[in-house]
Amino acid sequence: METEKEIRIEGIGVSQGIARARIFVRTQAFREPAKKTIAESEVDGERARLEKGLQVTRHQIREMYDTVLHDVGAENAAIFEAHLLVLEDSTVLTQVNDSISKDLVCADFAFWEVMKRYIDALRAIDDSYLGERVVDIEDVSRRVLRNLRGERSTSKGPREQHILAARDLTPSDTATLDKKKVLGFVTEVGSPTSHTAIMARSLQIPAVVGIRGLLRKIRSGDSVLIDGYSGIVFVNPTEETLEEYSRIEEQKGAIEQRILDAREADAQTTDGRGIILSANIEFPHEAEDVLRFSARGVGLFRTEFAYMNGDQPGEDVLAEGYEQVVACLEPDLVIFRTVDLGGDKLEPGRSTDLEPNPFLGWRGIRYCLQRPNLFEAQLRALLRASARGKVGIMFPLISSVGEVIEAKQIVEKCKEQLAKRGQAFDPNVQIGAMIEVPSAAVGADLIAGEVDFFSIGTNDLVQYSLAVDRINESVAHLYQPSHPAVLRLINHTVKSAHDAGIWCGICGEMAGDLNLTPLLLGLGLDEFSVVPSQVPRVKFALRKLDASECQARVKEWFQLADPALIYQESHRMAMAAYPELVSS
Ligand code: PEP
Ligand code: MG
Repeated sequence: METEKEIRIEGIGVSQGIARARIFVRTQAFREPAKKTIAESEVDGERARLEKGLQVTRHQIREMYDTVLHDVGAENAAIFEAHLLVLEDSTVLTQVNDSISKDLVCADFAFWEVMKRYIDALRAIDDSYLGERVVDIEDVSRRVLRNLRGERSTSKGPREQHILAARDLTPSDTATLDKKKVLGFVTEVGSPTSHTAIMARSLQIPAVVGIRGLLRKIRSGDSVLIDGYSGIVFVNPTEETLEEYSRIEEQKGAIEQRILDAREADAQTTDGRGIILSANIEFPHEAEDVLRFSARGVGLFRTEFAYMNGDQPGEDVLAEGYEQVVACLEPDLVIFRTVDLGGDKLEPGRSTDLEPNPFLGWRGIRYCLQRPNLFEAQLRALLRASARGKVGIMFPLISSVGEVIEAKQIVEKCKEQLAKRGQAFDPNVQIGAMIEVPSAAVGADLIAGEVDFFSIGTNDLVQYSLAVDRINESVAHLYQPSHPAVLRLINHTVKSAHDAGIWCGICGEMAGDLNLTPLLLGLGLDEFSVVPSQVPRVKFALRKLDASECQARVKEWFQLADPALIYQESHRMAMAAYPELVSS
């Protein structure tokens, strides 16, 4: 039997590890309907089914319209008015009903054929306004078809262990992957700092993203090996490749074990500088990983993930989860970042089309300040947890000191509410600001007096200061955390914190890049917060570096203009100190 040829595809490795299995391609939820003929006696039933499908769709669209009108404004809601008009077009409906009764075809097929004629005719006209209308009509037509079929979401994967392939996965898709079945995933879209990639690292699922044309190169059932370290995917790997990877896995395994064995040591540099090394988590159950990898508490709890899979959780449910984590990690500090929805993290049912620039829009603290019920319920839950252990409350996407002051006033209001109820809380709970917007970094000296700590969110700070979308693979080469502008923003933030007598940490993915540990240490950061499994590696690296030497070198690097050169210098130091952890 002829063996299939090995194909090697390159992407961006965003979550370390090697996985081998058959691939399952998750296609878009939409399929064109097949032509199904019906008997004359079924005509009325099909027409009624069509009407029901249209009714459900109208109802969904009206709900979306109301929410958007109330929350964002009429301009953004207008798109849904356009969708409703498509559904109320009597010419269209007459044609579909006629087709059901005359051609004796099912409602799905009749509806899609009519809509397709309109779509194709509009597409043939070269006009940008009509181009947008086509997208609307296509969108609403697909929604009607999904409702006619009673479909809700994308198809489930096979029962066997597999590697998942898709054009894209949302962060909540990724958060709900069954780790026992999904050994790894590959996508066409994505970049290392997208929340999908962050989630993969949290789950410790090897992942390669940003693979152009992936879905044209693979089929469900193909045997694949993915290398999450270097971002290479092998379709039909040869015996030779498999053997080579067995060796690589063995080597990596031995190094991992050595690092894991040293995880209890202090995070201290060779010249005695102590660094707080904490963990980034998304769910309460990950407190176990924090302990397992010997992190000092949590530097970033992305609390919004609890809002992304279903109903809005209430105060009691939240308090219970937060208390569990705090009690489990006591006496270490747990920093809860208040809800940071928006951008690529959406509540269910909220479409990505609602805002033209979601990362510049209704996100982070802006969202919370306009959702007082949601925000106050979360703050009360956090305060309640502060009675059980050490809690930090940190606000995301701060762009000016006014937002911190307003948010702190709401915290005070919540304390009063709890006091009235007779519920315990720590009156001195620590308050922090995420520094992830350039205006906050530049104005860090103005914000420092209002908070107990800063945590630099480089994932966003890099995207906003360099104007490079963090989830767009086409500009991934321009996403450079070692850019001189980023260095200056971090430097000013750390200095402002220290001048005000507060500490400054870093919780963006840059903190886990071992090539950049010398640079970050030299910039004077007091705390590094990384995905739990990366904690032992960062600790191993810190223990091999001399903080004063890094500081002196970073001063020299401030003269360099080229981000690649700065990266290279830091990498060189890393290579000299811990070659087993960085590749040349
Ligand atoms: C960041 O922006 O660096 C950060 C840690 O927050 P998130 O990745 O959740 O936006
Ligand atoms: Mg952020």
